[in-house]
Amino acid sequence: MTPLDRREREKHVIKQMADLLRAGAAMLAERCPVCGLPLFRLKSGETICPQHGRVFIVKTESEYRKVSAQGVLEELEKLATRKVGELISKLEKEHSREVIGELREWLNILEQVERLITILDHQKKRSESTSKRT
Ligand SMILES: [Zn+2]
Repeated sequence: MTPLDRREREKHVIKQMADLLRAGAAMLAERCPVCGLPLFRLKSGETICPQHGRVFIVKTESEYRKVSAQGVLEELEKLATRKVGELISKLEKEHSREVIGELREWLNILEQVERLITILDHQKKRSESTSKRT
């Protein structure tokens, strides 16, 4: 990850935290086991990390499956982000076709992972709003 990416991500996380507090979420003493950020409890009772947005406190089997699918995708996203960063700095040193090809592959992976994460997020939100209605 380049320093600029990191700064962007931090800015994003800070904004997320501000949004959560504004929405009435409570900051907890517990921290996210992945990134160490403080967790927040939403009014709905859901516990989320401002960076990952995921509930790590698992209650049911299906919830666990969803969380682990998201966890795997996030790990992959992190790996791909790191790889892209590495390849970009490699390109700065030497401009090789091989590195460009590899970069393209990782960017594709990153794009797909992010798409999948968005889909999972949407599914989660949809199931939450349905359960609220019933
Ligand atoms: Zn986290």
